[in-house]
Amino acid sequence: MFAEIVVNAPLSRRRVPFVERTEGFAALAQTFTYSIPPALEGRLQPGHLVTVPFGPRKLQGIVVALSAQTAVEKVKDVFDLVDPLPVLSAAQVALAQWMSDTYFAPLIDCVLQMFPPGLESEVQTLIVLNPNAPDGVAGDNAAQQALLERLQRDRQAPLDDLVKGASKTETLRAIDSLVRKGLASKQSVLLPPRARAQTERTVRLIAEPTPELLQAVKGDRQKAVLQYLVAQGGLSAVKTVREVRDATHAPQDTLATLERANYIRVDQRETFRDPLRGMIVEPAAAPDLTPDQQTVWDAIRPALDGAEPASTTFLLHGVTGSGKTEIYLRAVAETIARSRQAIVLVPEIALTPQTIRRFAARFGSRVTIAHSQLGLGERYDQWRRMRAGAIDVVVGPRSAVFAPLPRLGLIVLDEEHEGSYKQDRAPHYHARETARQYAALCGATVILGSATPSLESMFQARQGAYRLLTLPQRIETRLPGAGPQAAAINRQPLIVNLELPHVDIVDMRAELKAGNTSIFSRALRDALSETLEARQQAILFLNRRGAATFVMCRDCGHVLKCRRCDNALTYHSDESELICHHCGRRYGMPALCPACGSKRIRQFGAGTQKVEEVVSQLFPTARTLRWDRDVTGARGAHDELLRRFASHEADVLIGTQMIAKGLDLPLVTLVGAVSADTGLNLPDFRAGERTFQLLTQVAGRAGRSRLSGRAILQTYMPGYPVITAAARHDYAAFYEAEIEFRRRLHYPPFSRLIRLIFAGAPDARVQSEAESLHRNLSQRVRQLGLAGLEIIGPAPCFNHKLRGMFRWQVIVKGANPHALLRAFNLPVGWHVDVDPVSVL
Ligand code: ADP
Ligand code: ZN
Ligand code: ZN
Repeated sequence: MFAEIVVNAPLSRRRVPFVERTEGFAALAQTFTYSIPPALEGRLQPGHLVTVPFGPRKLQGIVVALSAQTAVEKVKDVFDLVDPLPVLSAAQVALAQWMSDTYFAPLIDCVLQMFPPGLESEVQTLIVLNPNAPDGVAGDNAAQQALLERLQRDRQAPLDDLVKGASKTETLRAIDSLVRKGLASKQSVLLPPRARAQTERTVRLIAEPTPELLQAVKGDRQKAVLQYLVAQGGLSAVKTVREVRDATHAPQDTLATLERANYIRVDQRETFRDPLRGMIVEPAAAPDLTPDQQTVWDAIRPALDGAEPASTTFLLHGVTGSGKTEIYLRAVAETIARSRQAIVLVPEIALTPQTIRRFAARFGSRVTIAHSQLGLGERYDQWRRMRAGAIDVVVGPRSAVFAPLPRLGLIVLDEEHEGSYKQDRAPHYHARETARQYAALCGATVILGSATPSLESMFQARQGAYRLLTLPQRIETRLPGAGPQAAAINRQPLIVNLELPHVDIVDMRAELKAGNTSIFSRALRDALSETLEARQQAILFLNRRGAATFVMCRDCGHVLKCRRCDNALTYHSDESELICHHCGRRYGMPALCPACGSKRIRQFGAGTQKVEEVVSQLFPTARTLRWDRDVTGARGAHDELLRRFASHEADVLIGTQMIAKGLDLPLVTLVGAVSADTGLNLPDFRAGERTFQLLTQVAGRAGRSRLSGRAILQTYMPGYPVITAAARHDYAAFYEAEIEFRRRLHYPPFSRLIRLIFAGAPDARVQSEAESLHRNLSQRVRQLGLAGLEIIGPAPCFNHKLRGMFRWQVIVKGANPHALLRAFNLPVGWHVDVDPVSVL
């Protein structure tokens, strides 16, 4: 028998994934054939993690297929099994192959996404002294001499160790010459997995001790241990050594003596480290559904019975607070009841503590949270429990889509429009598409939920590919006050449909005309004052993305745009230049507004710190709290910030997009978007969509209680459809306008994009690299006669300079850009992002 194995070659080779690729992307899925030794015959299955010889090295690999024959002439034997159980299921192997094919990523990289963290071991190179090397042989130079002395002392040394401290090139040269002279050799070894199962020792009785036996036992300590075990349930009791010792104060040798005398047995058992540890949750029962929820549920429930192998995708469109999460909870419960399992994806764990708690409250120990901040050991444990079928529900971010649940029945994506579902490094998979594929392979159901569905998903729903379900109204269950009346109603949840908050649009150009140059309009300032006086809370939201990058006239709101592409130009302070990030054209910075001649034309934006300062100036007694990317770090930092704000330790919360996420804060009655239109001018076809989503969410923050809430959107573009639709909570109006724009300019969902990025230095070299790729792609399009493919660029990326590297991009746009890339040899160093969520 033979095994097709995808080998985890050392990172250095994978970092430049295109080096050895002569037959284009077909080679991405490259596997190697190995023979199966008698010891493993019949045991090896697809999904197994094995070690294999690979050149002079020993590497890890995953079996993707078995075959009885091979055309390969010289095959080597598989060395060994690393884990007796497959680390990937058959569905996961198929999913990895789909990912590799769809996202142009090496198969091994896709497989590694599903790999239990820490089980992937590292390969280390050792330099070993040849046993035949004559004693006291001298080197030709100081570097060789130092190396020889070290090897004569230790016999061998890790390469990483040797190059530390000394000059790397010199050391490498010295090693090479020793190897050439036959004095030393290079060997690769596989380090053991970093994550290991944690074990604990347990104690149990071998036989129920009779009173006579207890009498016979010498020593009070021994007696105490036996009595303790009897009291804990006798033969059926399994206690940890620690528990026994805590209860009886028996020293270690007492247990050893009892074990030798065959009274008890001490075993090792694996312990699982629990990520929910420390989280206090009250168990909660499911409420009765509202009529709207019932309608939705009646549509979803039949799909969950798994009778049909086909998998259905539902798009659940409902404003925040409309009861979507309750539907997810039901669907998960139903899935469990049918002995299947569920994955629930959330955009970011740290930002969804309330959702997490609700799942924990409903499902207790059957749920686990896949948290990126878990330690390696905890994640490894979690993965093993999932694989063993001991977990029914996994709640986690994007990567939790790869949870190895043996009987997957449901995948939920909450806030399906969120950009964080797209991996921002290779492989650039989208969790939504990946979930749909995985669900199709497992015959599972998919529920996508959002208050502001992505344009793509809504388009799919309208086309009939997804089933659209809506929850049009908010639910409120909190009761006013206490007292006998409240207690009486308490048994029956009171359901009141709340009004959405009132939203005002403030024209900041008019403020300027009236002489107000502050970043706060008069309306926002007055509203803030009223809110503080009423001892309620306010949230001030700032879109930092795109701030201080575009140039706008303060008098007329005119934004400088590319004459060729109608794209907002980006100001680059280092060159004092304006660049179109669509076509690459450069412009000088004008002194006067081209529209109205005003001198007050400049780049735009203010940070959270600035907003906080202004609030403190205007309202010296207001207590402020700032929440942005800088305030992260420690585990639970967000939870803590949120807790402080929720318990009214601050009056005003100032933050970036993060505060727009699912927080439930009943005292918040005012939300102000300081500059609602900042994100609109980003050179990205999704700028409008993203701004609409953010503003709708931000506005929805206000008035989640019975205190009526309001939102104020400050803008220089008050008539813009994105702004007006967000103010009216009018998704349909937004959708109609935006889908027209996409159709007209042939952007997704009317086409697909593949974004190709090159990063390097100096800038001119990257530019010419991009120009030559553009030329070659265009030529290939002509050769292949591919119609309807557009090669956009080359242009500097919006984030042009990143970590000292200059970035340029070329975008392939069309109905089937894959056809071009499959038939093209992408040169070394190009980075592929299929279906990018952002082209910045
Ligand atoms: P969403 O996920 O759409 O934001 P939720 O499911 O969180 O909405 O519901 C909003 C609020 O209404 C929550 O406090 C939730 O506990 C409550 N709720 C949802 N459904 C019901 C129901 N059927 N009966 C009583 N309360 C409900
Ligand atoms: Zn342009
Ligand atoms: Zn102007």
